[in-house]
Amino acid sequence: MASQSKDLIVLGSGPGGYVAAIRAAQLGRTVSIVEREALGGVCLNWGCIPSKALLRSAQLYNDMKHAKDFGFETGKITVDFPRIIERSREVAGKLSGGVNYLMRKGKIEVISGNGVLEKGNKLVVTDSAKKSTTYDFKDIIIATGARPRPFPGVDVDGEVIHTSRTILENKRLPQKMLIIGAGAIGIEFAYFLALSGPRSPLWRWLTRSCQSRTPRWHRRSRRSSSRTA
Ligand SMILES: Cc1cc2nc3c(=O)[nH]c(=O)nc-3n(C[C@H](O)[C@H](O)[C@H](O)COP(=O)(O)OP(=O)(O)OC[C@H]3O[C@@H](n4cnc5c(N)ncnc54)[C@H](O)[C@@H]3O)c2cc1C
Repeated sequence: MASQSKDLIVLGSGPGGYVAAIRAAQLGRTVSIVEREALGGVCLNWGCIPSKALLRSAQLYNDMKHAKDFGFETGKITVDFPRIIERSREVAGKLSGGVNYLMRKGKIEVISGNGVLEKGNKLVVTDSAKKSTTYDFKDIIIATGARPRPFPGVDVDGEVIHTSRTILENKRLPQKMLIIGAGAIGIEFAYFLALSGPRSPLWRWLTRSCQSRTPRWHRRSRRSSSRTA
Protein backbone atom coordinates (compact mmCIF):
# COMPACT_ATOMS: atom_id res chain seq x y z
CA MET A 1 0.00 0.00 0.00
CA ALA A 2 1.41 3.41 -1.05
CA SER A 3 2.07 5.97 1.71
CA GLN A 4 2.34 9.77 1.64
CA SER A 5 2.76 12.58 4.17
CA LYS A 6 0.35 15.51 4.42
CA ASP A 7 0.30 18.70 6.46
CA LEU A 8 -3.47 19.12 6.99
CA ILE A 9 -6.17 16.75 5.77
CA VAL A 10 -9.83 17.74 5.70
CA LEU A 11 -12.05 14.66 5.61
CA GLY A 12 -15.36 15.51 3.90
CA SER A 13 -16.05 18.38 1.50
CA GLY A 14 -19.45 19.68 2.64
CA PRO A 15 -19.83 23.31 3.80
CA GLY A 16 -18.02 22.33 7.01
CA GLY A 17 -15.08 20.77 5.19
CA TYR A 18 -14.53 22.93 2.13
CA VAL A 19 -14.81 26.25 3.98
CA ALA A 20 -12.34 25.03 6.63
CA ALA A 21 -10.00 23.86 3.85
CA ILE A 22 -10.08 27.26 2.12
CA ARG A 23 -9.49 29.15 5.39
CA ALA A 24 -6.62 26.87 6.40
CA ALA A 25 -5.01 27.33 2.97
CA GLN A 26 -5.39 31.12 3.32
CA LEU A 27 -3.62 30.88 6.68
CA GLY A 28 -0.68 29.14 5.07
CA ARG A 29 -1.36 25.45 5.60
CA THR A 30 -0.85 22.90 2.84
CA VAL A 31 -4.27 21.33 2.61
CA SER A 32 -5.63 18.11 1.12
CA ILE A 33 -9.36 17.42 1.12
CA VAL A 34 -10.68 13.85 0.97
CA GLU A 35 -14.14 13.23 -0.50
CA ARG A 36 -15.81 9.94 -1.42
CA GLU A 37 -18.61 11.50 -3.45
CA ALA A 38 -19.11 14.89 -5.11
CA LEU A 39 -17.45 18.03 -3.78
CA GLY A 40 -19.82 20.22 -1.77
CA GLY A 41 -21.24 17.44 0.40
CA VAL A 42 -24.90 16.95 1.21
CA CYS A 43 -25.71 20.65 1.23
CA LEU A 44 -24.73 21.35 -2.36
CA ASN A 45 -25.52 17.96 -3.87
CA TRP A 46 -28.37 16.43 -1.83
CA GLY A 47 -29.65 19.06 0.58
CA CYS A 48 -29.98 22.84 0.74
CA ILE A 49 -29.35 23.57 -2.92
CA PRO A 50 -31.31 20.91 -4.89
CA SER A 51 -34.22 21.17 -2.44
CA LYS A 52 -34.39 24.95 -2.95
CA ALA A 53 -34.35 24.42 -6.73
CA LEU A 54 -37.42 22.18 -6.29
CA LEU A 55 -39.09 24.76 -4.05
CA ARG A 56 -38.48 27.39 -6.73
CA SER A 57 -40.36 25.21 -9.25
CA ALA A 58 -43.22 24.74 -6.78
CA GLN A 59 -43.35 28.49 -6.12
CA LEU A 60 -43.37 29.27 -9.84
CA TYR A 61 -46.19 26.77 -10.38
CA ASN A 62 -48.19 28.38 -7.59
CA ASP A 63 -47.58 31.86 -9.02
CA MET A 64 -48.64 30.72 -12.50
CA LYS A 65 -51.86 29.27 -11.07
CA HIS A 66 -52.67 32.74 -9.73
CA ALA A 67 -51.41 34.62 -12.79
CA LYS A 68 -54.90 35.93 -13.56
CA ASP A 69 -55.03 37.80 -10.24
CA PHE A 70 -51.91 39.66 -11.36
CA GLY A 71 -53.24 40.51 -14.81
CA PHE A 72 -51.79 37.67 -16.86
CA GLU A 73 -53.68 35.21 -19.03
CA THR A 74 -52.04 31.81 -19.28
CA GLY A 75 -53.04 28.59 -20.97
CA LYS A 76 -53.33 25.26 -19.20
CA ILE A 77 -50.28 24.68 -17.05
CA THR A 78 -48.83 21.21 -17.37
CA VAL A 79 -46.15 19.85 -15.06
CA ASP A 80 -43.07 18.21 -16.59
CA PHE A 81 -41.95 16.51 -13.40
CA PRO A 82 -38.81 14.81 -14.83
CA ARG A 83 -37.62 18.23 -16.07
CA ILE A 84 -38.16 19.74 -12.60
CA ILE A 85 -35.95 17.03 -11.09
CA GLU A 86 -33.42 17.37 -13.92
CA ARG A 87 -33.12 21.12 -13.36
CA SER A 88 -32.57 20.59 -9.64
CA ARG A 89 -29.76 18.11 -10.43
CA GLU A 90 -28.23 20.59 -12.91
CA VAL A 91 -28.21 23.36 -10.29
CA ALA A 92 -26.55 21.02 -7.78
CA GLY A 93 -23.95 19.91 -10.37
CA LYS A 94 -23.10 23.51 -11.20
CA LEU A 95 -22.48 24.42 -7.56
CA SER A 96 -20.41 21.29 -6.94
CA GLY A 97 -18.30 22.37 -9.94
CA GLY A 98 -17.94 25.76 -8.21
CA VAL A 99 -16.37 24.07 -5.18
CA ASN A 100 -13.97 22.25 -7.51
CA TYR A 101 -12.93 25.66 -8.87
CA LEU A 102 -12.47 27.03 -5.33
CA MET A 103 -10.22 24.07 -4.47
CA ARG A 104 -8.05 24.71 -7.52
CA LYS A 105 -7.93 28.44 -6.77
CA GLY A 106 -6.89 27.79 -3.16
CA LYS A 107 -4.29 25.22 -4.28
CA ILE A 108 -6.06 22.58 -2.23
CA GLU A 109 -5.39 19.01 -3.29
CA VAL A 110 -8.53 16.97 -3.82
CA ILE A 111 -8.22 13.27 -3.02
CA SER A 112 -11.17 11.14 -4.16
CA GLY A 113 -12.03 8.12 -2.05
CA ASN A 114 -13.38 6.83 1.24
CA GLY A 115 -11.20 7.72 4.20
CA VAL A 116 -10.79 5.51 7.26
CA LEU A 117 -8.80 6.74 10.25
CA GLU A 118 -6.15 4.48 11.71
CA LYS A 119 -4.01 4.71 14.81
CA GLY A 120 -1.02 7.02 14.74
CA ASN A 121 -2.25 9.93 12.61
CA LYS A 122 -2.98 7.83 9.55
CA LEU A 123 -5.82 7.97 7.07
CA VAL A 124 -6.35 5.14 4.62
CA VAL A 125 -8.14 6.33 1.48
CA THR A 126 -9.64 3.78 -0.88
CA ASP A 127 -10.66 5.05 -4.30
CA SER A 128 -13.36 3.78 -6.68
CA ALA A 129 -10.88 1.32 -8.26
CA LYS A 130 -10.36 -0.13 -4.72
CA LYS A 131 -6.82 1.21 -4.63
CA SER A 132 -5.77 2.20 -1.10
CA THR A 133 -3.27 4.85 -0.09
CA THR A 134 -2.18 5.63 3.44
CA TYR A 135 -1.67 9.28 4.34
CA ASP A 136 0.27 10.36 7.43
CA PHE A 137 -0.97 13.74 8.55
CA LYS A 138 0.10 16.41 10.97
CA ASP A 139 -3.48 17.59 11.56
CA ILE A 140 -6.90 16.47 10.43
CA ILE A 141 -10.32 18.14 10.38
CA ILE A 142 -13.15 15.61 10.37
CA ALA A 143 -16.19 17.06 8.58
CA THR A 144 -18.04 13.93 7.52
CA GLY A 145 -21.54 15.34 8.09
CA ALA A 146 -24.68 13.27 8.47
CA ARG A 147 -26.79 10.95 6.33
CA PRO A 148 -30.36 9.60 6.49
CA ARG A 149 -30.83 6.76 8.96
CA PRO A 150 -33.24 4.15 7.61
CA PHE A 151 -35.76 2.47 9.89
CA PRO A 152 -34.62 -1.04 10.89
CA GLY A 153 -36.15 -3.65 8.59
CA VAL A 154 -37.34 -1.10 6.02
CA ASP A 155 -35.52 -1.23 2.69
CA VAL A 156 -35.14 2.11 0.96
CA ASP A 157 -35.73 1.08 -2.68
CA GLY A 158 -35.76 4.57 -4.19
CA GLU A 159 -39.06 3.64 -5.88
CA VAL A 160 -41.73 3.54 -3.22
CA ILE A 161 -39.69 4.15 -0.10
CA HIS A 162 -37.41 7.15 -0.27
CA THR A 163 -35.04 9.11 1.89
CA SER A 164 -34.51 12.85 1.51
CA ARG A 165 -31.69 11.84 -0.83
CA THR A 166 -33.31 9.33 -3.19
CA ILE A 167 -36.42 11.51 -3.64
CA LEU A 168 -34.21 14.18 -5.22
CA GLU A 169 -33.58 11.90 -8.20
CA ASN A 170 -37.08 10.46 -8.43
CA LYS A 171 -38.55 11.44 -11.79
CA ARG A 172 -41.92 9.76 -11.21
CA LEU A 173 -44.49 12.18 -9.85
CA PRO A 174 -45.93 10.54 -6.72
CA GLN A 175 -49.73 10.57 -6.51
CA LYS A 176 -49.64 10.28 -2.74
CA MET A 177 -46.82 10.53 -0.31
CA LEU A 178 -46.52 9.91 3.40
CA ILE A 179 -43.74 11.99 4.86
CA ILE A 180 -42.40 10.82 8.17
CA GLY A 181 -40.79 13.64 10.09
CA ALA A 182 -42.11 17.14 9.98
CA GLY A 183 -38.94 19.10 10.57
CA ALA A 184 -37.63 21.65 8.07
CA ILE A 185 -36.70 18.96 5.49
CA GLY A 186 -40.05 17.13 5.72
CA ILE A 187 -41.96 20.40 5.42
CA GLU A 188 -39.98 21.46 2.35
CA PHE A 189 -40.70 18.19 0.55
CA ALA A 190 -44.38 18.32 1.53
CA TYR A 191 -44.67 21.85 0.12
CA PHE A 192 -42.92 20.86 -3.12
CA LEU A 193 -44.92 17.68 -3.67
CA ALA A 194 -48.24 19.31 -2.74
CA LEU A 195 -47.83 22.06 -5.29
CA SER A 196 -46.42 19.96 -8.11
CA GLY A 197 -48.71 16.95 -7.85
CA PRO A 198 -52.09 16.52 -9.51
CA ARG A 199 -53.38 15.16 -6.20
CA SER A 200 -52.43 16.16 -2.71
CA PRO A 201 -49.84 14.09 -0.94
CA LEU A 202 -50.91 12.64 2.35
CA TRP A 203 -48.94 14.46 4.98
CA ARG A 204 -49.14 12.86 8.39
CA TRP A 205 -47.81 14.66 11.39
CA LEU A 206 -46.13 11.79 13.13
CA THR A 207 -44.06 14.04 15.31
CA ARG A 208 -44.67 17.50 16.59
CA SER A 209 -43.63 19.82 13.81
CA CYS A 210 -40.24 21.53 14.17
CA GLN A 211 -39.81 20.65 17.83
CA SER A 212 -37.58 23.58 18.56
CA ARG A 213 -40.16 26.16 17.47
CA THR A 214 -42.69 27.89 19.69
CA PRO A 215 -46.22 26.49 20.14
CA ARG A 216 -47.58 29.55 18.28
CA TRP A 217 -45.34 28.85 15.27
CA HIS A 218 -46.42 25.21 15.45
CA ARG A 219 -50.15 26.15 15.33
CA ARG A 220 -49.56 28.53 12.41
CA SER A 221 -47.54 26.00 10.37
CA ARG A 222 -50.18 23.32 10.97
CA ARG A 223 -52.89 25.69 9.65
CA SER A 224 -50.91 26.62 6.54
CA SER A 225 -49.89 23.02 5.84
CA SER A 226 -53.48 21.83 5.90
CA ARG A 227 -54.39 24.69 3.52
CA THR A 228 -51.59 23.68 1.09
CA ALA A 229 -52.27 19.97 1.18
C1 LIG B 1 -33.05 17.95 1.92
C2 LIG B 1 -32.15 18.79 2.78
C3 LIG B 1 -32.30 20.18 2.78
C4 LIG B 1 -31.48 20.97 3.57
N1 LIG B 1 -31.64 22.33 3.53
C5 LIG B 1 -30.84 23.10 4.28
C6 LIG B 1 -30.95 24.52 4.24
O1 LIG B 1 -31.80 25.06 3.54
N2 LIG B 1 -30.12 25.27 4.99
C7 LIG B 1 -29.14 24.69 5.79
O2 LIG B 1 -28.41 25.40 6.46
N3 LIG B 1 -29.01 23.35 5.84
C8 LIG B 1 -29.81 22.54 5.11
N4 LIG B 1 -29.66 21.19 5.15
C9 LIG B 1 -28.62 20.63 6.05
C10 LIG B 1 -27.23 20.71 5.39
O3 LIG B 1 -27.23 19.95 4.20
C11 LIG B 1 -26.19 20.17 6.36
O4 LIG B 1 -26.28 20.89 7.57
C12 LIG B 1 -24.81 20.37 5.78
O5 LIG B 1 -24.67 19.67 4.56
C13 LIG B 1 -23.76 19.85 6.78
O6 LIG B 1 -22.50 20.12 6.21
P1 LIG B 1 -21.25 19.26 6.59
O7 LIG B 1 -20.08 19.84 5.88
O8 LIG B 1 -21.17 19.11 8.06
O9 LIG B 1 -21.55 17.79 6.04
P2 LIG B 1 -22.06 17.24 4.64
O10 LIG B 1 -22.60 18.28 3.77
O11 LIG B 1 -22.90 16.05 4.98
O12 LIG B 1 -20.71 16.75 3.96
C14 LIG B 1 -19.99 15.66 4.45
C15 LIG B 1 -19.19 15.10 3.30
O13 LIG B 1 -18.28 14.15 3.83
C16 LIG B 1 -18.21 13.06 2.93
N5 LIG B 1 -17.75 11.91 3.69
C17 LIG B 1 -18.38 11.36 4.76
N6 LIG B 1 -17.64 10.34 5.24
C18 LIG B 1 -16.54 10.25 4.45
C19 LIG B 1 -15.41 9.39 4.43
N7 LIG B 1 -15.26 8.44 5.34
N8 LIG B 1 -14.47 9.57 3.45
C20 LIG B 1 -14.61 10.56 2.51
N9 LIG B 1 -15.66 11.40 2.49
C21 LIG B 1 -16.61 11.26 3.46
C22 LIG B 1 -19.62 12.90 2.39
O14 LIG B 1 -19.62 12.22 1.15
C23 LIG B 1 -20.04 14.36 2.26
O15 LIG B 1 -19.75 14.84 0.99
C24 LIG B 1 -30.46 20.36 4.39
C25 LIG B 1 -30.30 18.97 4.38
C26 LIG B 1 -31.13 18.18 3.59
C27 LIG B 1 -30.92 16.68 3.60
